[in-house]
Amino acid sequence: MRGDLSEFQDRLLAWFQANKRDLPWRSQPSLYHTVVSEFMLQQTQVETVLPYFARWVARFPDFASLAAAPQQDVLKAWEGLGYYRRARNLQALAVHILRDGIPASCAQWRQLPGVGPYTAAAVASIARNEPVAVVDGNVVRILARLFADPTPIASAAAAQSHFGPFATALLHPHQPGTHNEAIMELGATICRKSAPLCASCPVRPHCKAFARQSQSALPVIPRKTSRARTVHRALVLRSEPPALLLATYPPNAQRLAGLSELPELPQPPAPPPLLSRSRRIANEAIREHFHLIDPSSTAAHGLPVLLAAPHLRFHPIHELHLVTLSGPHRKWLPALLRAAGWSGAKAWESLSTRSD
Ligand code: SF4
Repeated sequence: MRGDLSEFQDRLLAWFQANKRDLPWRSQPSLYHTVVSEFMLQQTQVETVLPYFARWVARFPDFASLAAAPQQDVLKAWEGLGYYRRARNLQALAVHILRDGIPASCAQWRQLPGVGPYTAAAVASIARNEPVAVVDGNVVRILARLFADPTPIASAAAAQSHFGPFATALLHPHQPGTHNEAIMELGATICRKSAPLCASCPVRPHCKAFARQSQSALPVIPRKTSRARTVHRALVLRSEPPALLLATYPPNAQRLAGLSELPELPQPPAPPPLLSRSRRIANEAIREHFHLIDPSSTAAHGLPVLLAAPHLRFHPIHELHLVTLSGPHRKWLPALLRAAGWSGAKAWESLSTRSD
């Protein structure tokens, strides 16, 4: 980094005070709001989080109401945000806080479910003004550019160990929470991944990459190889009474525990699929093919005999809005029902937008 440290800190804080976005967890600050927002913002953009945050704090206004809620209600409120382990961990954290009290330090926050180094530092510094620096993707990008550091960063752990000391060295000694918020805001709005807005950047005089015009080459993140996978799924509709077959993942499942999706077929049926869609989970690119299967032939297609498979159940169409579906399946269902010629598809679409 170029120039004087306190000048850098002052420029960053002055810019933040004048330009920070008006976000609900800032306008109504509380420890609970900070924790909920930090959990939601892991892996998710601010714009996506905003309506979820509003619904969440209306439904669960504090740690006590979250701790006492049925887990299905918690997952339902998280439906569509993805990475559902965050919702389960957030509830477990609320239970922990009610039982043992509020952690007194960043190190104690780290002991709680779902709290990694970034979240612990963010919560401890923003809510308690503890002098601990955050290191996330935004901060890594800024630090790599400020110091013109070409070290390849392959993982969050590598980022923390390499850039943690840089972040700590820059931290404002008296306003660590505001400093952390400011540097994250700078990364989200000015020092963007592509086309950073250097002309508007408050710390441009301190930036080595800007001086060398190498900002677009930094940080150096090795490309992850993406794995392709194909999944075949069954669309099984029963007409009287109207119902759809769904599989619910068990509570101890690695992913999507407690959520429902259209059931997976062990073998692809001979006829071509009714519809195909793509999704991405971590570094997997998944192509899903949906096949219309007659309810009388589910066993022939390798689905377990329905009554003997507790994770497979027909759900009345008019109650589907109450089921916690994975985000992609919730999104694709209207098109699937239409493609299947389901006469109730239109009615279902209006139900699917309800969140009660
Ligand atoms: Fe990022 Fe440009 Fe500011 Fe440097 S000058 S920190 S590259 S926005």
